[in-house]
Amino acid sequence: MLEVSELSASYGPVKALQGVSFEVPDRTITAVLGANGAGKTTLLRTVSGLIRPQSGTVTLDGADITHAAPERMSRLGLTHVPEGRGVITELTVTENLRLGELGRARNGDPVSMDRVWEMFPKLADRRSAFAGTLSGGERQMLVIARALMATPKVLLLDEPSLGLAPRIVAQIFDLVRTLVDEQGLSVLLVEQNARSALSIADLGVVLNLGKVVTTQEAHALAADEGLRHAYLGF
Ligand code: ATP
Repeated sequence: MLEVSELSASYGPVKALQGVSFEVPDRTITAVLGANGAGKTTLLRTVSGLIRPQSGTVTLDGADITHAAPERMSRLGLTHVPEGRGVITELTVTENLRLGELGRARNGDPVSMDRVWEMFPKLADRRSAFAGTLSGGERQMLVIARALMATPKVLLLDEPSLGLAPRIVAQIFDLVRTLVDEQGLSVLLVEQNARSALSIADLGVVLNLGKVVTTQEAHALAADEGLRHAYLGF
């Protein structure tokens, strides 16, 4: 289980996170929701070691990983998929996937290419294509598949739906749910698209101005009209 406890982080005078605490239980999706500037991306970057917190702790299966460097995080089983679908456009789909193996977790069972093609049939069809020729949805699938090559226990996903058509968002979210149910992953999912995120999540954490407003089961949050209107935009 990933546990975030009393995490605070700032950019100079801007307090982006203030005493944020929540848990990501094993084999679940926890969605972090909230308006622009709520602190969602900062939270993922702090959990994955890209930003040094001012205070607070992050533990994975009881081990304190708060100050681990990003490469070590990956070795420990925590893989961050940042916003923006960064693929290497001059390499093929297969070559991009191979890069994911470089950060492989120490205790992870290697994921075979055949398994990846099975899980991502659209990528299998394009395996020899340069990544630069992929659509936005295919690139998003590629960055998720590449992250799986590192055999993570916990995947941190930042805004996978950004700029994608609703039909493609639905496909990607279904895929994430399948990875959790069938591969035993845990996912910390940051999303602006609260309605879609809550439809696949187990838990929802609502952030506002760097603080947790509430943590609830996803279906309960989706049913709470007051919270939805105030913080979730639907
Ligand atoms: P968005 O969906 O727009 O990315 P967010 O919920 O992810 O929003 P953050 O990007 O984490 O929010 O931003 C939290 C706060 O920190 C905001 O007030 C933002 O303006 C500020 N902030 C973010 N990045 C920086 C930075 N590099 N330098 C200074 N302030 C920053």
